[in-house]
Amino acid sequence: MKDVVAIDGPAGAGKSTVARLVAREIGYRYVDTGAMYRALTLLALRKGIPCDAEDLVAELAARARIIMNGDGPVPSVILDGEDVGTAIRQPEVSRHVSLVARIPAVRERLTELQRRMAAAGRVVMEGRDIGTVVLPHAEHKFFITASAEERARRRQRELAAAGRQCDLDVLAREIARRDFIDSTREVAPLRPAPDALVIDTTERTIDQVVEMIVREVRGK
Ligand code: C5P
Repeated sequence: MKDVVAIDGPAGAGKSTVARLVAREIGYRYVDTGAMYRALTLLALRKGIPCDAEDLVAELAARARIIMNGDGPVPSVILDGEDVGTAIRQPEVSRHVSLVARIPAVRERLTELQRRMAAAGRVVMEGRDIGTVVLPHAEHKFFITASAEERARRRQRELAAAGRQCDLDVLAREIARRDFIDSTREVAPLRPAPDALVIDTTERTIDQVVEMIVREVRGK
């Protein structure tokens, strides 16, 4: 698929920031697929549906209307008419999202929506399974990682910037738990596509990573 950039990687590796900046730089649309799993998780929590109740959550997924618009200064996620861009970042959602994301019917539904969003090309799509399952024929594929400690530290800084103090060990444990569920699930587990360029960002700045990707995409 020409003009399609897939960016995958584990939680806290800096993917979203990098993907958004790359999209802006090359003038493509940005789609954060994690936000779609988060929106469904928020819906389940609000309705008091347990996040591991496969049939009930699958039913929600079939009916929910999720519209993504990543192009503004703050990417918006419209769930059944309401902008939930901020609500989906709550720790409660982060703690439950991997349970929702491992339900096969949920993945099927969101994968279909994501493929439709990418069909017109000129898109940077970011997630866990974009290069492997959602868009295996994407022209450019990247897998962004960083050491577990560095990812926990980045998450801590992000939360601090939003006025929330959080213990580093607690964050590290949460990230490790999410990585474990994401990479061991049966459907579309987190892993690099064989043809993805793997970028370890532990020792790199955001700008350096953005520049590497933009250079690749432009074929320089
Ligand atoms: O990217 P973010 O951390 O917001 O993603 C939240 C969760 O959504 C991930 O931990 C994973 O469980 C799920 N996810 C997924 N497939 C994607 C994107 C996100 O399973 N393509």
